[in-house]
Amino acid sequence: MRIPSSTIQEIQQAADIVEVVGDFVNLKKKGKDYKACCPFHNEKTPSFSVSPQRNIFKCFGCGKGGDAITFVMEIESVGYVEALKYLAKKYQIEIPEEAYQPPTDEELQAQNEKDSLLIALEQAKVFFQQQLFETEEGKNIGLNYFKERGFQEKTLKSFEMGYSPEAWEALFQHLTQKHFKPAILEKAGLVIKREGKDQYFDRFRDRVIFPIHNVAGRVVGFGGRTLRKDKNIAKYINSPETAVYQKSQVLYGLYQARQAIRQVDSCYLVEGYADTVALHQAGIENVVASSGTSLTTEQIRLLRRFTKQVTLLYDGDEAGLQASLRGVDLLLEEGLQVRIVIFPAGEDPDSYLQKVGTNAFQTFIQKEQEDFITFKTKLLLKGVADDPFKRAQAIKEVVSSIIKIPDAIHRMVFFKACSEQFRVEEQVLISEGNKLIRQQKKFKNTTQKETAEVQKLPDEKVSEDKTTSFNTLILQEQESIRLLLHYADQPIDDTRYLVHYLLEELGDIQFETPLYQEILTIYKEALRRGEVLNADFFIQTHDNPAIKKAVIDLISDRHVLSEHWKEKKARIPQKDEVLQEVTYTHLMRLKFRFVQKMIEENKAKLLKATNDEEQERFLHIHQTLKNTEREIAQALGNVIR
Ligand code: ATP
Ligand code: MN
Repeated sequence: MRIPSSTIQEIQQAADIVEVVGDFVNLKKKGKDYKACCPFHNEKTPSFSVSPQRNIFKCFGCGKGGDAITFVMEIESVGYVEALKYLAKKYQIEIPEEAYQPPTDEELQAQNEKDSLLIALEQAKVFFQQQLFETEEGKNIGLNYFKERGFQEKTLKSFEMGYSPEAWEALFQHLTQKHFKPAILEKAGLVIKREGKDQYFDRFRDRVIFPIHNVAGRVVGFGGRTLRKDKNIAKYINSPETAVYQKSQVLYGLYQARQAIRQVDSCYLVEGYADTVALHQAGIENVVASSGTSLTTEQIRLLRRFTKQVTLLYDGDEAGLQASLRGVDLLLEEGLQVRIVIFPAGEDPDSYLQKVGTNAFQTFIQKEQEDFITFKTKLLLKGVADDPFKRAQAIKEVVSSIIKIPDAIHRMVFFKACSEQFRVEEQVLISEGNKLIRQQKKFKNTTQKETAEVQKLPDEKVSEDKTTSFNTLILQEQESIRLLLHYADQPIDDTRYLVHYLLEELGDIQFETPLYQEILTIYKEALRRGEVLNADFFIQTHDNPAIKKAVIDLISDRHVLSEHWKEKKARIPQKDEVLQEVTYTHLMRLKFRFVQKMIEENKAKLLKATNDEEQERFLHIHQTLKNTEREIAQALGNVIR
C-alpha cells in the first residue's frame, strides 16, 4: 500500500496532537500545555506533556517524544502506514483508491507482520458483519438471536458484531481469494491448520461474533458465542494470543467506553461481552469487561489512564466471587479506588438489567455499591462468627488489602473504618499492617530491612520536652524543603526520584510555616506539570524575595548528604540508599512532630469540652494519636513512655 505524499501531508496537517493523544490518555490542561501520566512507562505523577503550539508530545520520564504519527505508531506498536491509516480514518481523510489495490505478495511480506495481521482481522470483521446483516443464514440465526436479546441495530453496529456461518471454510476461502496467505490467517488466529495436512478450517463457525478492539479501535481478536444449547459445545470461543492480541493487555469495550469513562471519571467492570454491550445500550457507556479471566496489571494500568475509580459488577454466585476477589488487591495496589456491587444470585448485570429496566438498575447500583475494603471486611466477618482464630485471620486478610493502597491518607481512612467494623483498636490494625509490610519486605529483599528499621541519627534527639515539639515541627518542615532543594531530582529507588517519594508521603499534610508551605506547593504544581525543580529555579526565576532568601539560606546550609555517609561504618553505601534512608528517617520525624502537634491541639479541645460525650470523643482521639506517636517512635528506634 502506497499512500501519496500529498495525502500524508494532509494527514499531518489535520492531526491535532491534543485530540490524537486525548483518545488514549486523560489529558489535563496546565498553562499552555497538557499533562498526563505517561502511557509508555508506569508512573504515578505525570511527566508526560503535550504541546499544542508545537504539535508534539514529550515524556520527561522515559524520554519518548514526537508528533501525532509517532504517537500512534508507539502506542499501537504499528508501522508508519498503519498509523497514517488510523489518522486518516479519524480525520475523515480519504486515501486514494489506487493505494488500496490488493497487496502484492511482495508487499504483504515486506510489511511488518503485525500490520498484515491487523489487516486480515479487519477484513474478517467486515466478512462477519456482512454475514450477519446480508445473508439469509446470518439474518435468520444471528440477527434474530441478537434481536431476541434486545440488542438494537445501532448497538450491533457500534460494537461491530457479526456472524460466522456454519460452513467449515467460509472465512478462509473469502480471505484467500483476497490474496491473504494461509499462514497469515493462521497467525491471526482466524483459521486452524489440519494436523499434518495443507488444509485449513475456520476457527469461528456457527457463532455470533464479538470483535475485540484495542484502545485505538483496531480489531485484534474475536469472541464467538454459540447459539446451540448442546452442553458439549463451548459457549465461547476466543481468539488465541497472537502478535497483535495479548489477552492480558486488552479490555473488551474500552474503545467504545473511553469517552464516557473520561467524562464521568469512573468505570464499571463486568465479566462478560454481553454485559458490556447491554449496559452500553442502556446508556451506561462507561463499562468494560475482563472477558471471564482475572484482571492483570497491564489491564489495570490501561484503565488507569482513563480513570482511577472502578466499580466491579459481579454475579451473585459465591464460588465465582471468591475467585474474583483475589484479583482486586491488584487494583488497590495500582492506586485505584475500588467499589463493588453484587447482583442477586443467578443474575449477571445483563440479565438483571433486562429484568428490572434501566432506572431500577441504576438505582440498584447506587444503593448497593460499597467500597471494596468495607465489602471485604463484611464478607470475611460473616464467615468467622466468634472463632477468635478465624477472626484474627480475617483481620490479617483485610489489613493485607489495606496496605496495598499506595496513598497514605487513604490507607488511614480504611484503617479507621475497618477498626470500627472489627471493633478493634485502629492502632492494632496499623501495627498488624506494619508487621505485614516488614515481612513482605524481608521476603522481597533482605537488604531493605535496613531501611525499614531505621536507627536514629545523632542530629536530632527525640526528647520529650513538649514545649519544643512545635518548634521541632518547623525544623522538620525546613528539612523537607532542604531535601527537595538539594536532591529533588536524585533517584531514590528504581522508579522514583526523591521528589516523587517525598511528596507522595507528605500527602495532604499542610506545613505550619507559610513560607515552606508555599515552596512545597510550587514543587507540587511543577511536578503536576512534569517538572522537577531545583534550587536554581527559585534563585533565578522566582520573584518572591522572601522565598528566594529562604532558599539561598537552605542550600548554603552545612548539612549535606556526605555528612550522613560518615555515619555508616564499614561499607560505603550507594548514594540512593543513603538518600532513601535519610528521607525515610526525616519523614518519620516530621510525622512524629505532626502527630505531637495534633495531640496538643486535641488536648486544648479536651480541656474545653463541655459535656461527657465530647470529652469521650477527644479522649478517644487522644488515645489513637498517642498510639500513632508510639508507633512512629518505635520505628525511629526510640522508646517513649
Ligand atoms: P451470555 O449472557 O450470552 O450467556 P455472558 O457474556 O454473560 O454471555 P458468561 O457465561 O457470563 O457469558 O461468561 C462471561 C465471560 O466469560 C464471557 O463473556 C466470555 O468472555 C468468557 N467465557 C465464558 N464461557 C467461556 C468459555 N467456554 N470459553 C472461553 N471464555 C468463556
Ligand atoms: Mn450473560
